[in-house]
Amino acid sequence: MGIVTTDNWSDLLFLTGMLYRAAGGVQPDLNAAKLRGSPTEASLCDHNCLDPETYCCPAAITLNKGVMPGSLVPIDLLSDGIMNTVAGIRLANRIFAEQHLQGYTQRFAVPSQVYKILYSHLINGAVEVNLFGGNPEMIKGLASLIDNLKQRGVIVNLTTTGRRFMRDQKFAESMIGSMPDLIALSVDDVPSLQVLEELCTLPMSALHARWKRIEWSKGQQQKPYEAIYTARWMAENGLSGQVLFNLVIHKQNMDFVLEMAEVLSTHLPQVIINPYPEQNAFMYESEPFDADYLARLEQLIERVITLHLELIKNPTTNFRLAPRLHYWLMLKAACIRWEEQPEKAQKALSGHGLWYCYKKLGAGRYVQFGKSGGDATKFMHPGGHLGCFWNSQTITNNQKQVWAQSPQSISQDILSMNQRSQQAQSPCWGCGFPRLTFDMISTETGMNPELVETYLALRKAHIGF
Ligand code: SF4
Ligand code: SF4
Repeated sequence: MGIVTTDNWSDLLFLTGMLYRAAGGVQPDLNAAKLRGSPTEASLCDHNCLDPETYCCPAAITLNKGVMPGSLVPIDLLSDGIMNTVAGIRLANRIFAEQHLQGYTQRFAVPSQVYKILYSHLINGAVEVNLFGGNPEMIKGLASLIDNLKQRGVIVNLTTTGRRFMRDQKFAESMIGSMPDLIALSVDDVPSLQVLEELCTLPMSALHARWKRIEWSKGQQQKPYEAIYTARWMAENGLSGQVLFNLVIHKQNMDFVLEMAEVLSTHLPQVIINPYPEQNAFMYESEPFDADYLARLEQLIERVITLHLELIKNPTTNFRLAPRLHYWLMLKAACIRWEEQPEKAQKALSGHGLWYCYKKLGAGRYVQFGKSGGDATKFMHPGGHLGCFWNSQTITNNQKQVWAQSPQSISQDILSMNQRSQQAQSPCWGCGFPRLTFDMISTETGMNPELVETYLALRKAHIGF
């Protein structure tokens, strides 16, 4: 593919997702809860996603016995914590723009026209909130939380399963006037294109009836039914918010991931998909080496990059993916850089040594808060600790909660992740969650330094700088 020539870098960066609609994000774990008889906190969820063939979620019901639903933090306090964090991110972004952006742009050979766009975006860009954790539909007052946050000027995403939209008509009706800007659902566990086609075309009542036949403990099997039901329900009710289907790429679906986007686009025009390789490094785990898996994954990465390049050539093309060219170039860089060490390449694609939120400033700008990861008995309410949902052993601040922190204190916590990680006995091995690596600044500052040269060569070959 040829090099892009443009006099409008801003359009190109936003088109390809290298700049995102927000310059920072907050991902609160809404369902951090107390655990009966234990000083550590648990996750409240109504699903049981425990499938060793795909993934085992730490929030699964059977791993959280004794969780106390009544202990969730009150909505008003949660909302204050979110807004404190939004303000803290704005401050941290400003400090990064004023003190560190120039150094980053020199190291990553970013042209001066692009530097100006990045600077302005960091200073003036929006901050979004991704309501997340367990199943957020379970909290009391979800609609009023969304309304409150939108009134306070933030973009609101809701990452959820959709179960309650399907099961609880009163809840669904209550949400009609309070929908988030984007709802993110999950379809990683659709077993085939044929099943996906059926889920998109069955009468809604039949979809519901089939869902009911699934064993309660099979969370992964339930979720595609709930997700597609919810997307269809939104379309039927004329709700215009964007729908994003998260799609973890694993051995069972990797050969038809992109075809899924085509099937979905036929039936659900408002849907885009967000595929990414399954991640396990944050749990200090890795899959046994599988040369065939790696080869197929690299082919898929190349196909996705090609789709981005076609989008650049023709911005009106029917592009059904969450655009993230920089992310896919980082994955491709790992395949090239470690071509002679394929085990290392495979591990990198599952996060190990790929990208770190905490090593360099600029990377960890999609900020999470939730469980403390330790003894939480001194806090009245659970959750609220700046850190990471996936790995609480590296950057999590188990001494403070965001609703009791000032924006200045939160910005200092964001800017001092590296120092906190140095206290960790076993720092996180890294990850490649696209929401967390979200824009080019975050992806590039956080990527393993061993990848930078290869990545920059790819970026230059594909988009000209
Ligand atoms: S619904 Fe989500 S949070 Fe709940 S168990 Fe399944 S994957 Fe985990
Ligand atoms: S690299 Fe950071 S964001 Fe990613 S899993 Fe580890 S601690 Fe969490």
